[in-house]
Amino acid sequence: MNTRITLSYTLPPPPPDSNIMNTSDCKDSASKSNDDDVCDVNNMLKNMSTDDNHVSICANCGKEGAKNICNKCKQVKYCNAVCKKVHKKKHKKQCEEHQRLAAEKHNEELRIAAELHDEKLFKEPPSQYGDCPICFVRLPTFDNGRSYKSCCGKVICSGCVYAPVYDNQGNEVDNDKCPFCRTPTPKTNGEGLERNKTRMEANDPIAIYNIGNYYMKGKHGFPQDYSKAIELWQRAGKLGYPKSYNNIGCSYECGRGVEVEKKKAIHYFELAAIGGEVIARYNLGLVEQERGNIDRALKHYTIAVRDGESDSLEMIKRLYSNGHASKEDYTIALQCYQAYLGEIKSDQRDKAAAADEEYRYY
Ligand SMILES: [Zn+2]
Ligand SMILES: [Zn+2]
Ligand SMILES: [Zn+2]
Ligand SMILES: [Zn+2]
Repeated sequence: MNTRITLSYTLPPPPPDSNIMNTSDCKDSASKSNDDDVCDVNNMLKNMSTDDNHVSICANCGKEGAKNICNKCKQVKYCNAVCKKVHKKKHKKQCEEHQRLAAEKHNEELRIAAELHDEKLFKEPPSQYGDCPICFVRLPTFDNGRSYKSCCGKVICSGCVYAPVYDNQGNEVDNDKCPFCRTPTPKTNGEGLERNKTRMEANDPIAIYNIGNYYMKGKHGFPQDYSKAIELWQRAGKLGYPKSYNNIGCSYECGRGVEVEKKKAIHYFELAAIGGEVIARYNLGLVEQERGNIDRALKHYTIAVRDGESDSLEMIKRLYSNGHASKEDYTIALQCYQAYLGEIKSDQRDKAAAADEEYRYY
């Protein structure tokens, strides 16, 4: 599935001799956060209603019970249109001042909302997958490095999936079982699918996400149904699987089952990224890069690299070679990636990767 959006982006003019690529891919992938989390600005706007607590005294004649409000500043009231008209000239200056203050207040509230939003967005997210429940080493971000078990719903690292199992005498035994719960591996695709459905009924977000993917592709006996896919991804996202939100973002980005809506695409990429989904973070980096907001793009890429997203490292490298990022930016990114590799490396995983490309984990 294409989980990366494709964007043609415009950068500030590069220094001579740089080779900027014109397209990049935005990836699909699945968040813990509530949909409303990133809507601070909108909420702020919504809440900016007029102040109704003023005493209803006519600003012209002083009588109580004035209901006719000044449409411009919405701060003074009149008995009727006649009083309003009489007072117009006198009120003009005050009216302008009221409007100026209201605009100032409004802008300040927007600024604060945007600041809060960014604070949430650029906060280092939790590691999305945590540690392998068997070897306790951090799970790789790269898909091949881990495997979801539809028997117990655990996500196991490639090393533990591959590792041989020994009996009490030290003899290697048949390892056709889940390394975590020892349930025999499903013998048919149908059996695996049934397990996935059972886990979906138990509200397992990864199972729900997987079945959403089957609907999107029209695979494993599921009809192709984008709306159903989005519905399931919404459910999986609310249950704490941020990858789902990235897929919804991609759907809005490219109009898959929904009308193209860039704003909504970004909203879902943000939900996913806040929940720790690195591909959404990469996608947001692309969006900001396209807008020419290189600083914001770099922030997103760097957070993604910290969690092992190697394409983001590549983007920082290109920005650096094009003169849009500093040597320090690139050095920090390389260090972040090395630190990540240090956290996920294990002999068992290396053995698995050496034996089978399918187990390559970074
Ligand atoms: Zn009046
Ligand atoms: Zn007024
Ligand atoms: Zn493991
Ligand atoms: Zn299991």
